[in-house]
Amino acid sequence: MLTIEPVPCLRDNYAYLLRDPGTGDVWLVDPSEADPPARAIAAVSGRLRGILATHHHHDHVGGIDELVGDGGDVWVAGHASDRGRIPRQTEFVEANTDAWQDTGLVLAGRRLLGLHIPGHTRGAIAWRLVGEGGEPDDVFTGDTLFAAGCGRLFEGTPAQMHMSLQQLTTLPPSTRLWFGHEYTAANLRFAAAVEPDNRAVAERADALPGRTTPTTVADERATNPFVRADSVEELATRRRAKDEFRG
Ligand code: ZN
Ligand code: FE
Repeated sequence: MLTIEPVPCLRDNYAYLLRDPGTGDVWLVDPSEADPPARAIAAVSGRLRGILATHHHHDHVGGIDELVGDGGDVWVAGHASDRGRIPRQTEFVEANTDAWQDTGLVLAGRRLLGLHIPGHTRGAIAWRLVGEGGEPDDVFTGDTLFAAGCGRLFEGTPAQMHMSLQQLTTLPPSTRLWFGHEYTAANLRFAAAVEPDNRAVAERADALPGRTTPTTVADERATNPFVRADSVEELATRRRAKDEFRG
């Protein structure tokens, strides 16, 4: 059985602690900095086995060097095209954009798949833990898909972001999506400006908890203006508008 615990880092980042309570093995996703994840690991007397990086930005990999330390047996996985940009990377996953690829890695008995999701950065990758016994899958989306939003296009095109978001949200509706930043309240203000008549957006904004990760494919299909964009052009227009939006 694998547990997933968000670990707030920096100002609004989420790292994630994945844990096998049976063995004490733990893994991290996107350790922005070392101290909060190290404390979370110590609190459960965990043994760090591996680190998943969704992309090379410092607020997702800044803690890796210190967390890996001198221990030679902690693997660090990222997309193959992020070679040289992710500290201490040992696994170079050659995932492509149109089909989930088996990484060969298994975490607490759950298979790990990868999908290349360029748009925010050119080496962005989504990590997917396959559910067991009818449980939904868990997907780590980094800064490509946020609850009710998407990342800025630093190294990618609107067409790439459109493709990446559509791939992520064709997964089953109950799939859990764990994202990189707590931006949800601001994202929903923009979503309401884009679609004033979307009741799902208004209802979601009214009932927002302090911590909104994970979201689900169903919620994103109902409320995310970038997932809901009907074309690449519409996504591009909305992304430009969001860059300027002060809501
Ligand atoms: Zn980023
Ligand atoms: Fe980020």
